[in-house]
Amino acid sequence: MKKKENNKQKKKQNNPLSPSSSSEDITKVVFSCGRQYMPLAVLGKGTYGKVYKVQRTDTKEIFAIKKIKMDVDTEGIPSTALREIAILKKIHHPNIINITDLSFSDKHIELALEYCKFDLKKLMDHLIKKNDPSYNINFIKVIMYQIIKATDFLHSHKILHRDLKPQNILVKEGNFLVKLADFGLSRVYSIPIRPYTREVLTLWYRAPEMMLGMCNYSTGLDIWSIGCMFGELFLKKPLFVGDSEIDQLFKIMQVFGTFNEDILPGYKSFPFYNQDFPFWKPKGLRNYVVEHAQVLFDDNALDLLEKMLVIDPIKRISCREMISHPFFEGVKCPVDYDKVDNMV
Ligand code: AMP
Repeated sequence: MKKKENNKQKKKQNNPLSPSSSSEDITKVVFSCGRQYMPLAVLGKGTYGKVYKVQRTDTKEIFAIKKIKMDVDTEGIPSTALREIAILKKIHHPNIINITDLSFSDKHIELALEYCKFDLKKLMDHLIKKNDPSYNINFIKVIMYQIIKATDFLHSHKILHRDLKPQNILVKEGNFLVKLADFGLSRVYSIPIRPYTREVLTLWYRAPEMMLGMCNYSTGLDIWSIGCMFGELFLKKPLFVGDSEIDQLFKIMQVFGTFNEDILPGYKSFPFYNQDFPFWKPKGLRNYVVEHAQVLFDDNALDLLEKMLVIDPIKRISCREMISHPFFEGVKCPVDYDKVDNMV
């Protein structure tokens, strides 16, 4: 009897999905439509829940299920979230993750999503570790172009992502097909519910105007995040690594110089402006990238990067303008955009 108990205990410890690892873990997910999914592994922890690799029991297809925990102490799921999910379910683009099933309960929302082997962070780590020669300027072009096409689509539907970062850029194995994930949800979750994990939210892709307390964000917010990822792809490490909002702001200032009314009109009227911010002379983004880049780049790449990472959000390049930037001339993506654009 004791031996059996011990074995059970051991099994529980080895199985990442065992109920002992967390009361939130799932054994089998049944959606209201009746489809069943068996969990295979934990893929990642997001801010508000875990993501599982699952297999649909009837078709054996692989999916990802994101289980979002409601905050029972407060108001649970805001009605705006429900509205937003409903809108997102209607949005279809080859570079935006597809929600295939959706289920609600008092405690959770479960989203079944198409499965992607990598997110951009995991893919970069994987290629860097293998010293893979396919990690070159063309790879960066293909990845960036798809991110920009997806974000352009969101912006044209008046949706801001607000949390673009490598962990939210999913990539299929083989052809590097990009799928933006978590779009819109970040908007819903930006203020209300308590983070599910204790992990610190990544600030590295956050636009300076956000850190200064600007409330009426524009599409420039997403462009800044895209610019940070673009730079990171060349540097093979994040551009601005802050450990708090103020540190993040200072990391940006150390490259661009302490802001002033010339580079950011209205700077002194931002809620978190402080006249005692330290003084940094501008180092220049171009110099910073030239000094640290790990991938061969060209002038077009630098020109595009400089147009994305502009301190004044109004002066940042738009997705539409980026799409026709010479950097992307001749880019070969796994999506036939002529067909897609004609459908919209
Ligand atoms: P998220 O909560 O969307 O930030 O997801 C947390 C992590 O789970 C991501 O960084 C990915 O590594 C992984 N993940 C999320 N969605 C998927 C998916 N559809 N396919 C594979 N992995 C995913």
